[in-house]
Amino acid sequence: MYHYIRDLPNTSFPRLKGMLTSDFQSQVKIFQSHFEMATLESALAYLQGTYKPSRDLCLLTFDDGLKEHYAEVTPILKELGVQGIFFVITNKALAPVHMNHFLLATLEFETYQKEFYRTLEESCPGMLDTLVITKSLVRHTYPWDDFPLASFKYVVNFMIERDLRDRVLTELFRTHMGDPSEFSESLYVSWDEARAMQKEGMVIGGHSHQHKPLSTLSDKELSWDLTQCRQTLDQQLLPQQELPFCFPYGQRETVNALTLEKLQELGFSCAFLNEPGANYPGQDHFLLQRFDCKDAVEKMLPQVTVH
Ligand SMILES: [Zn+2]
Repeated sequence: MYHYIRDLPNTSFPRLKGMLTSDFQSQVKIFQSHFEMATLESALAYLQGTYKPSRDLCLLTFDDGLKEHYAEVTPILKELGVQGIFFVITNKALAPVHMNHFLLATLEFETYQKEFYRTLEESCPGMLDTLVITKSLVRHTYPWDDFPLASFKYVVNFMIERDLRDRVLTELFRTHMGDPSEFSESLYVSWDEARAMQKEGMVIGGHSHQHKPLSTLSDKELSWDLTQCRQTLDQQLLPQQELPFCFPYGQRETVNALTLEKLQELGFSCAFLNEPGANYPGQDHFLLQRFDCKDAVEKMLPQVTVH
């Protein structure tokens, strides 16, 4: 599972947390030398028990439909002869989780946190006193961040009523970064680019319409979101044999029974969590696990030394 892949020092946001393009390229080569690189089709056939590869399969997935997935990742994968699965947010609006990433990459953390809580307190006096943070949940959700940052991200993404949180983030984003809709055009792939990726052999999948934690939506909003996602993909993409899905945020607890039912009803082929782990024949196609690229080599190939 990959997110940002950039030549970070030479971008406008060198502090953004992501993988360097050169590290990505080396990592794919390591995988290629140890695994059979899967296509979505071969991976699904393996899960169904109809395909028995001689080596373990490795499938590369990329979340959030970022511009660099088109501009940098697709050419690398094409060159190496590997298929990538790319999950796009179908409404193309700047997701609050991404506003948060770019604010964090731009402002000093303490300044940003202070401003965030001040704006929150102005919009909803007394709100701050009601927040009680569960340390283990914070750790589980953001294992890669130090605790102050992890708890801030947890508060922002899970503990504040969503509309209020989005108002606060949008206000801060406008103040420090400019117009969110302009920014989203430079951050996400366009539909033209998504189709160009399909022509290069890549697979595009859904990452929901609005990138909200699905289990927090009402039944009505959940059905609406997933239906919009499916319809937009049908309208915008070239025909594709299989249509995969990836849960926003991706922890097991963000997925409820109605989500799984609805995804199947809408004809999605499978769905991916962010929970680390391998997948085996017979497993539920709608609860597939993934290793994060940050420690995928160590976890999938413990015998390999990483330099
Ligand atoms: Zn996402």
